[in-house]
Amino acid sequence: MLPDFRLRQREYLLEISRAMTARLDLSSLLELTLQSAGDILAGQAGLITLHRQDGSFAPNASIGLPPETLSLFEPLWRDLNLDLEKSQRMTSDISLRLALASRSAGVSLRQVVALPLEIGQEIIGYIFIFRTRGVAFSNNDRQVLSAFANQAAIAVHNARLYQEISAEHERLNAIIENSGDGVMIITPQRFIQTWNKALVHLTGISAEEAIGQPCYTVLNLRTTQGLSVCHTACPISHSPADGRWSAEGIHYRADGLTMNLADNYSPQRNKEGEVTQIIANVRDMTRLREAEDLKQTLLSVISHELKTPVSIIKGYAGTLAREDAHWDKATLADGLAVIEEEADRLDRLITNLLEASRLQAGGLKLHLGYVDLADLARIIVDKLQATTHLHKLIVNFPPDFPPISGDHERLREVLTNLIGNAIKYSPEAGKIKVTGTWDKNNMVRLLVSDDGIGIPAADHERIFERFYRVDNRLARQTPGTGLGLFLVKAVVEAHGGRVSVKSTPGKGSVFLVELPVNLEE
Ligand code: ADP
Repeated sequence: MLPDFRLRQREYLLEISRAMTARLDLSSLLELTLQSAGDILAGQAGLITLHRQDGSFAPNASIGLPPETLSLFEPLWRDLNLDLEKSQRMTSDISLRLALASRSAGVSLRQVVALPLEIGQEIIGYIFIFRTRGVAFSNNDRQVLSAFANQAAIAVHNARLYQEISAEHERLNAIIENSGDGVMIITPQRFIQTWNKALVHLTGISAEEAIGQPCYTVLNLRTTQGLSVCHTACPISHSPADGRWSAEGIHYRADGLTMNLADNYSPQRNKEGEVTQIIANVRDMTRLREAEDLKQTLLSVISHELKTPVSIIKGYAGTLAREDAHWDKATLADGLAVIEEEADRLDRLITNLLEASRLQAGGLKLHLGYVDLADLARIIVDKLQATTHLHKLIVNFPPDFPPISGDHERLREVLTNLIGNAIKYSPEAGKIKVTGTWDKNNMVRLLVSDDGIGIPAADHERIFERFYRVDNRLARQTPGTGLGLFLVKAVVEAHGGRVSVKSTPGKGSVFLVELPVNLEE
């Protein structure tokens, strides 16, 4: 049979270890330890001090002592050396320390037993149990206390490990949360566990909406043809043959924006090699892909559109220069006219390309002056009429049409592009009218109408985008860069105006430019 107090001691120690697994906070655990030890050792008070980072010790838990007096017990543990070999000397030393401390704290403690809390070789604190009366603690008492000291040391050790892990966890969370790239953590079953700030920004989807949901429903990436990348080529469900855990596709945001996103997955595995979670890095590739597309379009535009007039000019110049041929005046004049026309076309094209790249760089500066649009329209129409016998160009402005404040050169480009298009996209001859009106609200309106091929309604907005060309046979056969209307719109808007189109395929088009008479700088 175990003596009664041994049984109680076991029960207490069991209770403490249960409390430890229940993840009680450290102070409560240490208090429980003190209470149990105090009870077994017939002590009325107790104190645990713990080692601090600056090397000193500080009280961390106590029983039976007024909290405001705790710091006054400092003489008890200052430079304490609990050498058990010399227990006799130690007992008298610690009793002396107790007498000092309890006098300054104003409490009457008579006996003390103290033990270090050790983890390995390191002393991480001390446990003290006090009696206010009765006999001194025995060696046996000290042994009983050592079991509690061990429990307390384990509790402190666990709490520190736990603290370190949570600090590390928080650090990682902060890194993930504040990463410039989108980061999500997914389970092997593809459920989202973490969804960081950058991803909220990138996708327009909040963490609340994303967490707990399957990633393929929250971020369903698609190919340009509309196929779901997540369903056909997800590296998590289809182990990638090339070992590259990545996917790229288009994400359509709820607000209508289209994003090109690239996911890079790094699977985390356990010792058995099974995937436990996947960290996905999500990058915004929209700008990069746009720039690549633009580069491609620009290259094909330059190679195709610049080459044609150059080869025509070269061809005509070569033919006219032949020494063996004696060209009559009319043939010479015709040939030179073609050369001049093609050189003009080249010039327009280069101007458009330069203007578009300037716009891209963010610089559309207007050189303001007075512009007589009626005059300008007449000059341009005269010039362009000379290039076509098929079309009849008509200019119609009221005599009181006011001069407006604007950039003469830029407005010349606007009219040249609009009237040039009207000719280009009316292959079957017809009338082209340039009309000006103005109203009392100080807005002028320019209308350029043709009887040409017209534009499908779906393209009415898009024709003003950079490099956009309507996909029909004539447009494919007609030289062009898709930059003209993009520049028209930019210039008109820089003047505080608007441009729009009304058109029915097969029935012609009307382009309407509205500009304020007085542009406020
Ligand atoms: P480009 O003429 O060099 O292709 P633009 O930006 O001037 O480029 O025009 C964009 C597209 O809009 C053209 O490719 C054409 O399909 C269409 N478009 C422009 N003007 C007209 C028009 N007057 N009639 C029919 N289609 C037009």
